[in-house]
Amino acid sequence: MDTQTLLNYDREHLWHPYTSMSDPLPVYPVESAAGVRIRLMDGRELIDGMASWWSAIHGYSHPALVQALQEQAARMSHVMFGGLTHTPAVELARLLVEMTPAGLDKVFLCDSGSVAVEVAMKMAIQYQYAAGHPERCRFLTIRGGYHGDTFHAMSVSDPVGGMHQLFAGVLPQYFFADRPECTFSHDWDDRDIASFARLIEQRHQELGAVILEPIVQGAGGMRFYHPEYLRQVRYLCDTYGVLLIADEIATGFGRSGALFACDHAGISPDIMCLGKALTGGTMTLAAVLATSEVGRGVSQGKPGVFMHGPTFMANPLACHVACASIRLLVESDWQQQVARIARLLEQGLAPCRELAQVADVRVLGAIGVVELKKPVAMREMQAAFVERGVWVRPFGRLVYVMPPYCITAVDLQILTAAIVQVVAGEGRL
Ligand code: PMP
Repeated sequence: MDTQTLLNYDREHLWHPYTSMSDPLPVYPVESAAGVRIRLMDGRELIDGMASWWSAIHGYSHPALVQALQEQAARMSHVMFGGLTHTPAVELARLLVEMTPAGLDKVFLCDSGSVAVEVAMKMAIQYQYAAGHPERCRFLTIRGGYHGDTFHAMSVSDPVGGMHQLFAGVLPQYFFADRPECTFSHDWDDRDIASFARLIEQRHQELGAVILEPIVQGAGGMRFYHPEYLRQVRYLCDTYGVLLIADEIATGFGRSGALFACDHAGISPDIMCLGKALTGGTMTLAAVLATSEVGRGVSQGKPGVFMHGPTFMANPLACHVACASIRLLVESDWQQQVARIARLLEQGLAPCRELAQVADVRVLGAIGVVELKKPVAMREMQAAFVERGVWVRPFGRLVYVMPPYCITAVDLQILTAAIVQVVAGEGRL
C-alpha cells in the first residue's frame, strides 16, 4: 500500500484519540522508531519529545526489550491466568513489590491504565463492603486530575476539563476538593489542604477511598504540587479510615525525579496503579498494588474473592518485557539522566518565559511544560514541530515534553529550541 492510499484508508476508517471521524486532524505515517527517533514513511526523522505519552522511557526498539519480547513469544505468548501461573508474572510481581513504597505487596496485573483505575476503585469498594461498610462506596479526589477514559476513571477526573458534562446522568457523582495551589518548589501554606480536609471530614462515612495523582497532575493540566499536600492527604485518610489510591500511571518509574512520585512525600498509599512505562512503552500492561491489609480485607466475608479477572490478565509477553524494562531502569543511572534532562529543559525552555503568550514554564524531573494563555492552534502547531524535525503533541493551552531518558543533550537542545521557536510563532498563527 502506498503512503497516500494508507492515509486515505486511515482517514476513512480509523478513529484516532479524541478525534473527529468526519473531519480528523492530519496524522503522520510512521515507518519505524529507534532510540529517540521516530522515522516517518517519507524518510524524515523526528526527535521524540513525548515518549509515546510517558511510556517509552528507554527509547524505541531497545535491544533488551526486543530480545525479551522475542524470547517470550517463542516460549509462550499467553495462557489464561485462571488456575495457571508463570515465571514472567511472578518475577514481575517480585520486582514491583521490591521497588514500590513499603507495604504494597499484593499485585493485580491487568490490561491498561484506565482498567487499573477501575480495578483499584473496585478493590476499595469491596474492602469497605467486607468490613461491614457497604455505604462507603463513593470517592473523593482533587480538581485538575485525570485518571483515564473508562466510566469510573472519568468520574474522578476533573469535572470541568473532563467529560462530566457530556456523560452527565451516566457518571456517578463523586466529591472534588479544590486543586492544590502550592507548587512543588514553593513554600507550603497550610490553607492549601483546607478544602480537602473539610470534604473528608464531612463525607468520610460515605467514602471508600481517596484517589489522586501524586505530585504531578498530568493530562488534567500538567501541574506539580507540594509534597506536603500528599503527606496531609495520607494523614487525613488514616484519621478517617479512608483508603488512599495513588494513580502513578504517568509518574511511575522515575519520570518525576523520584522512582515513584509518592517517594517525594515519603508516603505509601494503600493501593497504587501503574501502567504506561511499565513495559518501557513496548505494549499495554498495568499493575495495581495493594497492601496486605487491603488484600486480607477484600478476601474476608462475602464474596471472599476479588471480582475481576480479564482474559489477558498477566499476559506473559507483556510481563516478561516489563521485567526487562524494570531491570534496564534500575541498573541504569536514571536519577542522573532525569536530573540532567531537568537541567537542560530548564535552560532550553527558559526563553519561553519572556514571551507574552506564555503564562508559565515549569519543569519537574524529565517533564517540561510551557503553558500558554490561549489554546494552541493544534493543526498548525503540530505541522510546525514536524517541519523542525521534532515530535511534540500539544493539547489545550499546554505544550509539554517528557522525552525518553536516553535523549542526548544535543537532541534535547534541538527539541527545546523548536519549542521556543514554535511557541514564539504561535502568537502569529
Ligand atoms: N491515569 C493517568 C494518571 C494517566 O495519565 C492515564 C493515561 N493518560 C491513565 C490513568 C489511563 O491510562 P490508559 O490510557 O492506559 O488507559
